[in-house]
Amino acid sequence: MARRHGHYYVDDTCIGCGACDHACPGKVDAVYEVAGDFLGRFAIVAEECIDCDLCVPLCPVDCIHDARNEGIASKDGDLEQIKKLQSWAQARPQAL
Ligand code: SF4
Ligand code: SF4
Repeated sequence: MARRHGHYYVDDTCIGCGACDHACPGKVDAVYEVAGDFLGRFAIVAEECIDCDLCVPLCPVDCIHDARNEGIASKDGDLEQIKKLQSWAQARPQAL
């Protein structure tokens, strides 16, 4: 069975306000600031996201999306598809 993962991603219109980073539950910490991004944008680690939806209402530019609502991902899968939607963002470096 596929490992569970979240279905939320950030599109490239993020303005780097950081609201989603504050909203994401501390123990989850799925949001990260994209290293070296000239606009200071944020992105989501799908493998860490728990689909809680807390970040979405706080985003001032509506650039956080649930891939399931857009017919892109199914309930249980399509991790690679979700990652492609956020391919503008450099991945968060793995914790050592
Ligand atoms: S949906 Fe929840 S867990 Fe996922 S990035 Fe947003 S706040 Fe974090
Ligand atoms: S709340 Fe929206 S605009 Fe602000 S950093 Fe997060 S994704 Fe970007």
